[in-house]
Amino acid sequence: SKETLILLYGGRSAEREVSVLSAESVMRAVNYERFVVKTYFITQAGDFVKTQEFTETPAADEKLMTNDSLKDEAVISPAAIYEKGAIVFPVLHGPMGEDGSIQGFLEILRLAYVGPNILSAASTMDKLLAKHVFEAVGVPQVPYVAAFADENQAMICEEVVKKLQFPVFVKPANMGSSVGISKVDDLVSLQPALMEAYKYDNRVVIEQGVEAREIECAVLGNGGEVSATQPGEVVKDVAFYDYNSKYIDNKIQMDIPAKISAELSEKMQAYAVKAYKAVNGTGLSRCDFFVTKEENIYLNEINAIPGFTQWSMYPLLWENMGLTYSELIEKLVDLAKSAFEIRE
Ligand code: ATP
Ligand code: MG
Ligand code: MG
Ligand code: MG
Repeated sequence: SKETLILLYGGRSAEREVSVLSAESVMRAVNYERFVVKTYFITQAGDFVKTQEFTETPAADEKLMTNDSLKDEAVISPAAIYEKGAIVFPVLHGPMGEDGSIQGFLEILRLAYVGPNILSAASTMDKLLAKHVFEAVGVPQVPYVAAFADENQAMICEEVVKKLQFPVFVKPANMGSSVGISKVDDLVSLQPALMEAYKYDNRVVIEQGVEAREIECAVLGNGGEVSATQPGEVVKDVAFYDYNSKYIDNKIQMDIPAKISAELSEKMQAYAVKAYKAVNGTGLSRCDFFVTKEENIYLNEINAIPGFTQWSMYPLLWENMGLTYSELIEKLVDLAKSAFEIRE
């Protein structure tokens, strides 16, 4: 009999639209010889709504139901998604998706799930905590200053002037998709940028701005067995890869594999695996680096549930290594099942 794959999509974070596109890609590419797919939409308010079920490959233009297509939402209790033996794929990004909360819920339900576990999700979602971990294991990153909303902001600004050079990037610790992030060119603009970031989180990171290429590496595996792809480059025609350039203007092009030396590529893969293991990486992650003209490498961040449409960087990096999108989904399900067996 077939296995049930449950897709959770939508969600509370600013990245809910990307989530829907990723889930639709998964739903179209699943191996229906092996799986039955059941889908649940999570509304912006956080309610769970049962949506479609698929037993065979849907038509290419089939869409998953969202706010726009759901007339009267039959809200269910989140625990009602439970089905013995099912595997859940939380195709969710950002807070309440990629931060350990949904993962903890699925563990309480005793369901197998794709992607990061509680620790790897929570620790990579918090940019400040992640920096402390990367520092501890010797993975290079740009210099930074930690800022907390309840501290003396003038002293934080002083520390920035002492430790960093403008421009700097101000980022809420717990976000994604560039939400709440500002590039700051001078001291007078620092305070307002901090205030903007505190709207999202009272933990903020102020980073040294670097002029760099953005090169990313896909990592796959659980604990003991982890592999990394050849890196790919995000080729921008904007200086700052902000929310609009990511999702609205479609200003992003990918170069796979990235045009860098084999030596640099290997170094980056090794750092990616090291950082992934340090945060107890499980399932998958996209490790994003900055590479300067002088070929200095800095880890920017780990995205534990990266964009997962068929044309997203993460799946394309694996395709370049010979693993198709459908095979990648099956591999992730197998990793989910083996993590589940260990837990149980
Ligand atoms: P994601 O959608 O990838 O989760 P995010 O919200 O976690 O994004 P970052 O990746 O930290 O945010 O920053 C967003 C973008 O801002 C980067 O891709 C890069 O273009 C730019 N940026 C961030 N930090 C720096 C820096 N220190 N120096 C130069 N550019 C930076
Ligand atoms: Mg991020
Ligand atoms: Mg992200
Ligand atoms: Mg990023």
